[in-house]
Amino acid sequence: MNLATEDFSKYDDFLDQYDMYIWDFDYTILKIHSYASNIELKDVESASWKKLMADFADPIFFRDLVYYIRGKKKEVAIVSFGTYNVIKAYLDRLFDDNNIFDSHNILTPLSGNKRYSSSFRVNSDKNEHLVCLMRQNPSIKYDRTIFFDDTYQNIQAARELGIKGVLINPKIAFTKAIWDELVKTETITVDKKKEKKEHCDILGTENDLEPRQIKKRNTKKDNVKKVGCHDDYLIETFGGAEKKEKEPEESIGTPISSYFMNWINIFAVILILAYYLIKKYTGQPE
Ligand SMILES: [Mg+2]
Repeated sequence: MNLATEDFSKYDDFLDQYDMYIWDFDYTILKIHSYASNIELKDVESASWKKLMADFADPIFFRDLVYYIRGKKKEVAIVSFGTYNVIKAYLDRLFDDNNIFDSHNILTPLSGNKRYSSSFRVNSDKNEHLVCLMRQNPSIKYDRTIFFDDTYQNIQAARELGIKGVLINPKIAFTKAIWDELVKTETITVDKKKEKKEHCDILGTENDLEPRQIKKRNTKKDNVKKVGCHDDYLIETFGGAEKKEKEPEESIGTPISSYFMNWINIFAVILILAYYLIKKYTGQPE
């Protein structure tokens, strides 16, 4: 747990890029999966402070960051598949101000203590709730929104909306080290990628991960940046879907060069046929 008082003003340049900050809860704000662990409201309310804080990935940093973001008149939200009452209880114990997170910005299909069943299944992604959240905040644009989640499908779906996605490693969840890495990586991007940082020291995490290499993949096509290696990635970022709109170019029409190539092929077939016909009827001796 980070008890030092952070100077959050150093993050201002990064924070100014977005007006809405959205987090998943289980395996993102918490380093455990409270829903899968069957944690109930009474468990959260009765847990000791120490035990409760141990469920968070980096509670003090998250709390102070949220306060700082709110101080800049920006919005924060939780979009989760978990149980509303449990999420609210965790956050109420972390934040002195119980109005920071409530029903206006904790969005989940599971109101109250409801749980999933054979007749009530989890959605394939969180876009329904993300759209709902954005409609509640009509002044905020999708491309000014950033979303942290440990599930690839949720991040990819959000990206289709134009939301910046940050894939969190569930083994680490959302910590100051992860945040710092994100800010550093995005700052490199903003600096016109003036140097390709194939090797980069990364701060250790509370899980004592070894320093790892920066790894980028497919950045041109998908605007994707991956930091870390294989399943031990620290974060993976996905730009909004602005590039996606350019992809249908191929289906708009067949390029002229394709027509030209077709005619060359037809001409070649005619030549070959003519050759064999001439060969046959000019009577080459058997
Ligand atoms: Mg999660």
